[in-house]
Amino acid sequence: MNASYRIQSFHPPRRTLLGPGPSEMHPRVIASLAQTVVGYLDPAFVSMMEELKELLRYAFQTTNPLTFPLSGPGSVGMEACFVNLVEPGDKVIVCRNGVFGGRMLENVERCGGVPVVLDETWGEPIDPAKLEDLLEAHPDTKTVAFVHAETSTGAQSDAQALCDVARRHGALIIVDAVTSLGGTPVLVDAWQADAVYSASQKCLSCTPGLSPVSFSERAIAKVKARTRGKVQSWFMDLNLVLSYWGETQRTYHHTAPGNSLYALHEALLLLKEEGLENAWGRHQRNHEAMKAGLEALGLQYLVREGARLPQMNAVHIPAGVDDLAVRKTLLNEYNIEIGAGLGPLAGKVWRFGLMGYSSQPENVLLALSALSAVLAEQGYSHEAGAAEAAAHRAYADHHTRAAAQSGKTPIAPQQ
Ligand SMILES: *Cc1c(COP(=O)(O)O)cnc(C)c1O
Repeated sequence: MNASYRIQSFHPPRRTLLGPGPSEMHPRVIASLAQTVVGYLDPAFVSMMEELKELLRYAFQTTNPLTFPLSGPGSVGMEACFVNLVEPGDKVIVCRNGVFGGRMLENVERCGGVPVVLDETWGEPIDPAKLEDLLEAHPDTKTVAFVHAETSTGAQSDAQALCDVARRHGALIIVDAVTSLGGTPVLVDAWQADAVYSASQKCLSCTPGLSPVSFSERAIAKVKARTRGKVQSWFMDLNLVLSYWGETQRTYHHTAPGNSLYALHEALLLLKEEGLENAWGRHQRNHEAMKAGLEALGLQYLVREGARLPQMNAVHIPAGVDDLAVRKTLLNEYNIEIGAGLGPLAGKVWRFGLMGYSSQPENVLLALSALSAVLAEQGYSHEAGAAEAAAHRAYADHHTRAAAQSGKTPIAPQQ
């Protein structure tokens, strides 16, 4: 039988996305995707591109003129940083405390760089003192690369401290801010980071397939001063991409993914309207409620307090509970997607993402309720309703603190 007779329009199921990305999109972002196509050099499109760069500079907290979205997912942003900044023979320290540090290493090798790896236990942040030791042992290091927010474990490294150490040793700095941008502070100028990349579908809650990047003057100087051959990737060569995204010229390089860029413009506008600090505060508040609920269920975090990402909550799977069965039931019966463990953490942890537009109290309460029910089906004993109650208390505590700060007296229940 010819299967094509049965092919119909595709209508995805409605899911609550609480995994490692993509996150859910705001209705305004979804609507922006359905707008009419215009040419990539249409004056209206070009002025939208200028606004995009300005909005991205706000999100990245930078004045870097070379701040724009690359056409491609976060992996393209990562690769673009390495192919442009790493010349064959360059020594690069790669900090690896999870999956994405491993990919950075892969990129250094493919660029012909000489990698020196700072390996850290998965779930731990990178220790700036260890970076300092390694830089002292390798004074010829050209570049230091690290992942700010390791999505595979939920650990956040102290980017300011790591950048300070690298800067003191005169190294260029590449930072993966894919999961942090929009969720926790990414302060490109304050950090003095040189090449920072992110992705559209994590805390920016936009359609996947775009990678915001920002390059410092030092990074551009390094690209311009390359002596050992052209950038190995034609598509990602900054010298060429700039002909389209740069300050002055506007000539064809590749056809920009126009509708995705409309969506990014809208997603960044939403972030600007909310305010970065409020967005960080919202991620923290929902994390605290999620944490209270998960802990009420007896689940333990992989990452220690103080190094946890609010937007990525990795918890140990209790002994005797079937990882796959739980995730399947959450998906099939509750329409909730959560993240599985990766690499050495496969089958050991669940990852609850609360990213961007997905970071909402309704999602926290839904996830806790569903998880509680599914764990009960698994024979895992706990008190029904305790997780939701703990989350409610966390929100109430937050409101009490906020009210106390604003001098309002809470309303007492009537006797
Ligand atoms: C998701 C992610 C990437 C890769 O982004 P894609 O858009 O999937 O290519 C890179 N680094 C980190 C930390 C991520 O979480």
